[in-house]
This record gives sequence, C-alpha cells and structure tokens, in this order.
Amino acid sequence: MHYPEPISKLMESYMKLPGIGEKTAARLAFYTVNMNEDDVTGFARSLISVKRDLHYCSICGNMTEQDPCEICQDKSRDQSLILVVEHPKDVISMEKMQEFKGLYHVLHGVLSPIEGTGPEDINIPDLIKRLQNEEVKEVIIATNATAEGEATAMYLSRLIKPSGIKVTRLAHGLSVGSDIEYADEVTLLKAVEGRRDM
Ligand SMILES: [Zn+2]
Repeated sequence: MHYPEPISKLMESYMKLPGIGEKTAARLAFYTVNMNEDDVTGFARSLISVKRDLHYCSICGNMTEQDPCEICQDKSRDQSLILVVEHPKDVISMEKMQEFKGLYHVLHGVLSPIEGTGPEDINIPDLIKRLQNEEVKEVIIATNATAEGEATAMYLSRLIKPSGIKVTRLAHGLSVGSDIEYADEVTLLKAVEGRRDM
C-alpha cells in the first residue's frame, strides 16, 4: 500500500523514535492529520525548541537553557560534593528527591568495551579537570547497577582516589540493572544516605 507522501514522510520521522515500528507510525501519522492545527504547530515548535534552546552545561554536562546551568550557578549548594550520573534525566530524578544539595556531573553514557566507548568518549576528561580546579572533597558515583555502570564506577574510583578525594558509590538499594530514573524518591534517598566507600 502506498501512503500519500506527507503521510509517509511523517511516518519515517515517527519511526526514528525508539520502539515505533511501521504500524504504530501509520497510526500516529493518521492521528496527526486529525489533530487541530494549533496542537500540531505547538508540537512542531517543541521539537525544534529542544534542539535549538537546550544546551549542555559547560561545567557539569547537564541539560540547560543557560550556561552554566542553574545548579552550577547556585552558590548555596555544597561545592565540595559532586554526584556523577549517566544521563541528564538522572539529575532530574535526584533533584525531585530535594535532599541532595551538592553538584552534579553528567557522563552522557558509560564505558563499554563492547561498543568501543572509552573514557574520552564520555564526559570523563571534564570531570577530572573539575576535580583539579574545584574544592571537591567527595565524588559520589551514581552510575546504574549494570555491568557497564559498575565498570565505569570502578574506573573512576581508581582514577580519582590517588588525588586524595573521597570516592563513594550509591548503596545497593537500587536493584541490579535498575535505572536511577525509575527509582522512587525514598529508595534514592536511602541509596545516597547509605553510600559506601570505594
Ligand atoms: Zn552545570
């Protein structure tokens, strides 16, 4: 079956999203045709805006509209504590908890020999630079409890410890393979409070 070109173009775009195959893409495309014009325009503007207006903070790597981000600019936060996470969405999960008052560093991934991801491919060099320049006393590694997350934590621990900075790891209230993103606030709080030395 041949779809009209505007429909097949829109379907191609939807199929670039994770978990969306041809059938779902067709359903979404036909649904879009019937949406009111304001909603469709708003949708298109939001898509453009996330690319145009969002940047990564030059200090911590978090997603932000301003650089440095609000968290890095907030001098009331504990400047001696950096919590290292895999993704910007992990920062949002931690911030929802409203208990962590230190700073963040977003790696944008984990080390993965299988996928050929080395230290230079994720935001590790910037973290090391920060540790040399800032008054950091403790780095809490909050990568996920996956094999790659654990390997990344070990790597960072070995790299940072010789400098005399304390390195801790979130407690295993988070089950193996679970994402920070999906942990509830109480579990996250316990994981931070129960962090252990590496
Ligand atoms: Zn920042």
